[in-house]
Amino acid sequence: MDEETRKKQEYYRDARINGDYDNIWKTTGECVFCALNEKYVIYEENGVALVVQLFAYIDGHLLIIPRRHIRSVKELTSIEWETMRKMMYIAKKMIRDIYGIKGMQIIQKDGVGSQSTVDHLHFHCIPFDSPDLNQWNFRKLKNTPIENTALYIAKKPEIEKLAKRFAGKYQNE
Ligand SMILES: [Zn+2]
Repeated sequence: MDEETRKKQEYYRDARINGDYDNIWKTTGECVFCALNEKYVIYEENGVALVVQLFAYIDGHLLIIPRRHIRSVKELTSIEWETMRKMMYIAKKMIRDIYGIKGMQIIQKDGVGSQSTVDHLHFHCIPFDSPDLNQWNFRKLKNTPIENTALYIAKKPEIEKLAKRFAGKYQNE
């Protein structure tokens, strides 16, 4: 590895903790997941890639990315979803094998404002061995569990409508 390549690799390695990452996505014009760097793809099947995260949260961090530029899980075909399921299995086994970490968090951020970098659907597979990483900031609750359940149950007709709509729009593709 030449000096320049090594420097670039160290830049990727440290970007999350020195603040560089916050400026990166503003400077890249194209979708970084449509233009995947092939050298970080460790496995691929049915148009779904298992990729090493360039800006990892922790060593071993992987991403599962469909090649198609889609924004939501609802746009996945059955075969793509089935393949992603397989990738989650492979990721967990490999993280355990290589890094000795038995836990894994699967994270997919959905909705406006939650994907700060790219809107191309991707799942994070993050080795998880202690709660210091991705710690949740719990909030003071307004409702008890039964009150929250009641709010959802009151919308039962809405839920059934959504289930029907999903079946019509996104299944059997
Ligand atoms: Zn894309």
